[in-house]
Parts: sequence; structure tokens; C-alpha cells
Amino acid sequence: MSTQNHSLAKSRIAVLGYGSQGRAHALNLRDSGLDVVVGVRQGGPSWQRARDEGFKVAEPAEAVTGADLVAVLTPDMVQPKLYEDAIKPNLKPGAALLFAHGFNIHFGQIKPRADVDVVMVAPKGPGALVRSEYERGRGVPCLFAVAQDASGHAEVMARAYADGIGGGRAMLIKTDFKEETETDLFGEQAVLCGGASALVQAGFETLVEAGYQPEIAYYEVFHELKLIVDLFYEGGIAKMLQYISETAQYGDFVSGPRVIDAGVKARMQEVLKEIQDGTFARNWTAEYAAGLPNYKRYKQADLDHPIEKVGAALRARMSWLQPDAPKAAEPLRKVG
Ligand code: NAD
Ligand code: MG
Repeated sequence: MSTQNHSLAKSRIAVLGYGSQGRAHALNLRDSGLDVVVGVRQGGPSWQRARDEGFKVAEPAEAVTGADLVAVLTPDMVQPKLYEDAIKPNLKPGAALLFAHGFNIHFGQIKPRADVDVVMVAPKGPGALVRSEYERGRGVPCLFAVAQDASGHAEVMARAYADGIGGGRAMLIKTDFKEETETDLFGEQAVLCGGASALVQAGFETLVEAGYQPEIAYYEVFHELKLIVDLFYEGGIAKMLQYISETAQYGDFVSGPRVIDAGVKARMQEVLKEIQDGTFARNWTAEYAAGLPNYKRYKQADLDHPIEKVGAALRARMSWLQPDAPKAAEPLRKVG
């Protein structure tokens, strides 16, 4: 490895996309003293926002031209076309491509030019948190990986980028594109987004169908989940057990494994297998290309679930959630 300084201090960084991750990365990199240009579509939703927040803003193709590092932070499904149209023809020889999720490289949807570095810095948190932690002088833990090391210093550069967005203040964990992609997809599908929302809906339905008030069901199976998750986050299952009653602990021990049983784990293994063998990526790519017919239907069903109606009415009465209430933390916009 060369002993040159690859701190990115002399590099021009093009951040493509100014959404959840793009905005947070661009702001943090700039506050770390780095040279950032934001690449978004003129007339698109983010153009004016990035400009108002003081960035040089250009169309993606123009932002890529002359950049030493291009951070590809648009939605995953638009990245392959963006790569072909705007990145590949304009990327300077020997430059670096950076992703926040390994999907397109791992599943071969983007075949990067051989002369460029291809790295990943994947914050383990949504963009709003990447920004708010940075502003507090902290950071969000990041995974980093190198898929292609044309320059011989791709890893040093990935670490410098992770430092630039604040990840180095928290924790950096080395991985590869395969591991990050497969575990990230599994986590969001089986546990975090898919698993947790289905568990809550089933619990709510069970109580309401048995004749209990929906407002009480909402508190019992949804609202209080945050208290439990906060205990997990701070001190693991041990801390939760320490903070709940003996009755709750006994009920946890005897009923938890009956609900989440070996059948659930077997189906988790099926989900994982379809991620690993590319079935999920193929289905999702086809769904996107078809204009999202099933996606829209599934999403509407979630939005129409009775828990949403009672939840919206209850949350409107929660003074601490109102926009003028003093906030303990920024709202977390997205996990993904
Ligand atoms: P997002 O949907 O929040 O933002 C996308 C941005 O890209 C917007 O500014 C949008 O205007 C712009 N955009 C859309 N189409 C475009 C196009 N054709 N050309 C140029 N710009 C376009 O996206 P996100 O959630 O920040 O995801 C970005 C990447 O980060 C993805 O690879 C995702 O997997 C990864 N990631 C996201 C999270 C998260 O919490 N959201 C966490 C870790 C990694
Ligand atoms: Mg994800």
C-alpha cells in the first residue's frame, strides 16, 4: 500500500442523491472540511433543497465529471441506469465509486469499470441519525468494504470517507459486499421492518378480535414496544429482564417461544435462502420494472390496517409527539 495521504482532503466528492443518506453524507462531509458537489436532477425534489443548504448542485453527469469519488446515494433501483447514463461515461480514470448498500454490485446489476475503486460505507442507521449524531460530535457505526481495489488504497479511502461522515467516531466494521447485502436485506425483511410490523399487527388483531378496545390493544402491542427496544439497545435482553416484572418475565419465557417457534425460524431460513440465491433481487427488480403493482397493493394494505387508524388518533393526543414539543432526539425517518 502506498504511503501517500489518501485522507480525501484534496479530493472532490460528488454525492449523487440528496435523500435520507445523501443529504446526511453531503452535510457531514462538508462539515468535515471536504469538497462536496451534490448531483441530482434539475427540477427533481432535492435540487432546490441542496442548493438552499449551500451546496454546489449539478446534474448527475456534470457532478461526476472531475470528481475523485462518486457516492451513489440514490434509491437502489435507479442506480443501474444512473451508472450507465451518467457515471460510466463521465467517471475520471482511477476515480472511486462508493455505495451505502452492496445490492447492485453484489447482484451484478452494476458492472463497474475495471480502472476504478469500488467501495462501500454503510451506516447502520437512517440518514437523519447519521446527521444528528454527527452534529452532537458523535457518529453512527458503519460497515465498510472494498469490492475492487484499482488504486491500491481503496480501503484507506473508504475509511477516510467513513470518518468524514462521522462513522469513525462510533465504530467501523470491515465486511464484504456479499455479507453486507445479504445480512442487511435479511434484517429488514425478517426482523426489523417486515417481522416487527407483522408481529405487531397480529398481536393487535388478536386482542381486537377477542373484543378488547383497539386503543388499549395499540398501547399494549405497539406503543410500548419502544420501551422494550430501548432496553434491548442499551443493555440487551438482560436489561429488559431487569426492568420488567417477574410476571412479565415468566410470561416471556413460557409464551415467547410458542409464538416465535421453530416454524418461524425455518421460514426465516427460507427468506435468507431466497436472498442468497438471488430470487429476492430478481423479483424486486422485475417488480420495479413493472411499475410496482404489487408493492403499491402491499403498501396500501399496511396503510389501511386498523392499527394505523387508531394509532393516528391516539398519537394526535400525545402532547409529547406534537411538533412544538421539546424533542429528546430527531425523528428517525427510515431504516433500510
Ligand atoms: P432516498 O430515497 O431517501 O433518496 C434518494 C435521492 O435520490 C433523492 O434525493 C432523490 O431525489 C434522488 N434520485 C432519485 N432518482 C434519481 C435519479 N434518477 N437521478 C438522480 N437522483 C435521483 O434514498 P436512501 O434511502 O438515502 O438510499 C440511498 C442508498 O443508501 C441506497 O443504496 C440505500 O440502500 C442506502 N442506505 C439507506 C439507508 C436508509 O436508512 N435510508 C441506510 C443505509 C443505506
Ligand atoms: Mg437496507
